[in-house]
Amino acid sequence: RPAASGNSPSDANSAALFERAAQAIPGGVNSPVRAFSAVGGTPRFITSAQGCTLTDADGNNYVDLVASWGPMILGHAHPAVVDAVRRAAGTGLSFGAPTEAEIELAEELIARVDPVEQVRLVNSGTEATMSAIRLARGVTGRGKIIKFSGCYHGHVDALLADAGSGIATLGLPTSPGVTGASAHDTVVLPYNDLAAVAAAFERYDGQIAAVITEAAAGNMGAVAPVDGFNAGLRELTLRHGALLIVDEVMTGFRVSPAGWYGLEGVAGDLYTFGKVMSGGLPAAAFGGRREIMGHLAPSGPVYQAGTLSGNPVAVAAGLATLRNADAAVYEALDANADRLASLLTESLSAAGVAHRVQKAGNLLSVFFTSAAGPVTDYETVKATETFRFAPFFHALLDGGVYAPPSAFEAWFVSAALDDDAFTTIATALPAAAAAAA
Ligand code: PLP
Repeated sequence: RPAASGNSPSDANSAALFERAAQAIPGGVNSPVRAFSAVGGTPRFITSAQGCTLTDADGNNYVDLVASWGPMILGHAHPAVVDAVRRAAGTGLSFGAPTEAEIELAEELIARVDPVEQVRLVNSGTEATMSAIRLARGVTGRGKIIKFSGCYHGHVDALLADAGSGIATLGLPTSPGVTGASAHDTVVLPYNDLAAVAAAFERYDGQIAAVITEAAAGNMGAVAPVDGFNAGLRELTLRHGALLIVDEVMTGFRVSPAGWYGLEGVAGDLYTFGKVMSGGLPAAAFGGRREIMGHLAPSGPVYQAGTLSGNPVAVAAGLATLRNADAAVYEALDANADRLASLLTESLSAAGVAHRVQKAGNLLSVFFTSAAGPVTDYETVKATETFRFAPFFHALLDGGVYAPPSAFEAWFVSAALDDDAFTTIATALPAAAAAAA
């Protein structure tokens, strides 16, 4: 593969493409964080990717620490995945009728995550959380949902309040276009604050259909649940007759073969999955116990559907990704996250930059802060010195390292990161740390 260093300083072709894109596409991008809004400069237009390397329109190579925001655990263009996609495409792109491969993907997810007995395939994480919430409301006959500040569950109207990811990057409390009516039944609470959850259950006695939480928060940067938080949510939801929706779109099949559930073992009622399970193509899923999932149409009255749901090509990419993610892959993901975290800590410490490299499984983030303790909620994240992030990011980019272009995002390693990639990272980091100082 091409060496991920020796970048030409040019971003002329990306700049021209960005200008052209801005004429045809709002903000020049199809998902806001891609626009480099928080870090400034020219978003790199990617022409190809192989293993852990991204190549842009000016021929620059970057070590990829975004991995398409999570899915690419095996690295880019993994031969087995590409092969599976080619084979599936050759036998037809979409049928609008069931296929055996959909059963296989559903079975694969069910086999990995014990509390999940049935899944429904959808096209994006947003659809998965939207549908899980409708199902939870349909099953309980209740309206309200609890979500946590800084958690992002896709751009579902009711879930955009105080959301992480792009909406945090852009500093928006919510989005215009979300009516009071759609947000009315959303109760937003601080992450990692069980007392707040208990109080909300008292206040809205008998009205709360579900608590939705990221299994471990990744959309305000990596903020793991404190000990007992997820178990406490389990206990409170059970006690009050509400469902626990565990959003594993980011953590699922990345932080372990069974996602965050594999690390912690707290059972939710409903799960949402995306990213890794579709290997870089658009597919996602929601699932849970048979008795809950049985409320979905056509077996039950809660409606949910999709023209392209269970798309054969996306299903093939997902199956090939999961089947090639063996124990060695998960070991590599963890080891690579540890190695990256050590390099970050070393170089920032050497430059005297107060910081905290924080991990949630193998998701990680750099918070610029001199606070002694871990960052545990959105308020603390927002209080970090995010102004240091843009110069840090750009120095990394100049050194051939593509980190997430926002202080409010997790960094995603792949199993394809190799010694050359880590050499590039180690070489780029001192200048980046100096830029952050
Ligand atoms: N849930 C979580 C935890 C996510 O991280 C995301 C996306 O980043 C979503 C839901 C939404 O998924 P999608 O972007 O596929 O709609």
